[in-house]
Amino acid sequence: MNDTTATKKTARPASTDSETVVETGRKPFLPIATVEQRLGDLGRQLPVGVPVAGRYQRDFTLRKFTFEQERLIGEARSRIRGLTIGRYVSEIMSVLVKSVGPHDFDAMEPRQRIFTINQMQLGDVQVMYLWARIDSVGSELAMSLACPSCRHKYDFVANLNDLDVKSLQGDAEVDLEFDFDLRDGIEIAGATRNWLRCGPVTWGALDVPGVNSENALANPATREAAIIRGAVHGVDGMPGPYALLRGDIGQLSKWDKEGLISVLTDRMFGPNMVVDDECPVCQEELYQMMPWTFETFFTRSSRSIAKRS
Ligand SMILES: [Zn+2]
Repeated sequence: MNDTTATKKTARPASTDSETVVETGRKPFLPIATVEQRLGDLGRQLPVGVPVAGRYQRDFTLRKFTFEQERLIGEARSRIRGLTIGRYVSEIMSVLVKSVGPHDFDAMEPRQRIFTINQMQLGDVQVMYLWARIDSVGSELAMSLACPSCRHKYDFVANLNDLDVKSLQGDAEVDLEFDFDLRDGIEIAGATRNWLRCGPVTWGALDVPGVNSENALANPATREAAIIRGAVHGVDGMPGPYALLRGDIGQLSKWDKEGLISVLTDRMFGPNMVVDDECPVCQEELYQMMPWTFETFFTRSSRSIAKRS
């Protein structure tokens, strides 16, 4: 994220004549074959993986989460000022991942590990993060649910193995880029831009200033802006890569923004971090985002302590 931000000024040409834009190499949004399954059934496999010579490598191995690992994570937490949620998870995974696809983390410097995690697909990092949690403190996650219909609050124990995960079908590398046509367009550098080049959202997209609390990410506008910034890397009529600025995203009409989020969500692989249940009082179905960013995510549930499992 930060690297693309640094180049945005130079990527912007001094003047652009939209009349002379040559529409070559456009990429349509094509359907991609996917598989949906429980995390427990997927196992220790990445939903997309790291492409190597035309094939996705989906295997990863994790270290045992020991007190020493916890100390290293705590150290990173106190060292980094303005730690965002995205960066916090990168720090945790840089300590807990042993290998992923072709990458051997033992052979890497700490900065390289963070860079490698940040370059991975968002859903791939989430799957590793969930397995790190399951392997260390188990699959049961105690949470408090609140029914939006009748306001009943109750305790619920979610099983992380039951989370739905969307994966790419097969391991042959596919072109995950596409162009999104805007109905209303946005103005960039004095010209109206009518389409956006989109690609996979990498983990680094969540390392956004301001996204440093559970509440920030629970705000749909903050989350959506981070996803759009992470996915869009080119615009109509701009040669080379272009990272959208806050002001560019702010210009998107409601219609275009909703459409863009819809196709980007369709292209998101990985776990659905939402727990659903039926309210025991009014029987309405309710959905709640799993509290995966809290530090308490890596604590044992009182039930598992009682069982001494
Ligand atoms: Zn209810």
